[in-house]
Amino acid sequence: MVDNSTVMESGRCTECGARGVDGFSCYDLFGFPLTWEHNNPELYALHFWLVSCYMIQHPSNFTHEGYQLLVRLFTEAYDNDWDTPYILKKNRELVSHVGKIANSTPNELRKRSLKQWSMTIEDIYLGGEEQAISNILKWRERVRSEVTPIDHSD
Ligand SMILES: [Zn+2]
Repeated sequence: MVDNSTVMESGRCTECGARGVDGFSCYDLFGFPLTWEHNNPELYALHFWLVSCYMIQHPSNFTHEGYQLLVRLFTEAYDNDWDTPYILKKNRELVSHVGKIANSTPNELRKRSLKQWSMTIEDIYLGGEEQAISNILKWRERVRSEVTPIDHSD
């Protein structure tokens, strides 16, 4: 199982740097857009992008190899402008590997290192439900420009 809990220190997420807003941890903030999606099919269509942006900013949830797999899927989908059904198909393939790509180290023992991102889940939360679609589109663009996939053929 993937344990996605985040660790907050001095009010900030120790991995993505998001500020805890309104008493919510980084992982709590992630729960909001996931709820908004339920009532909005257009927002739900961006589910892959929301989840992958968030996961890419929290590498401690994955093995090193699993993380590279995730970054590769994200960049390929973005660069080749994959349509949603194709992304979902590839995403299912990825999820079927999750047992292997998830970090098995207990949450409290994981190493986390802070990386600065120009946009985090904090911005998605602060923009609220009305801006969620445009913000997630902006977020995926920012994340794409701030990650570098490691090329390895298999
Ligand atoms: Zn975070």
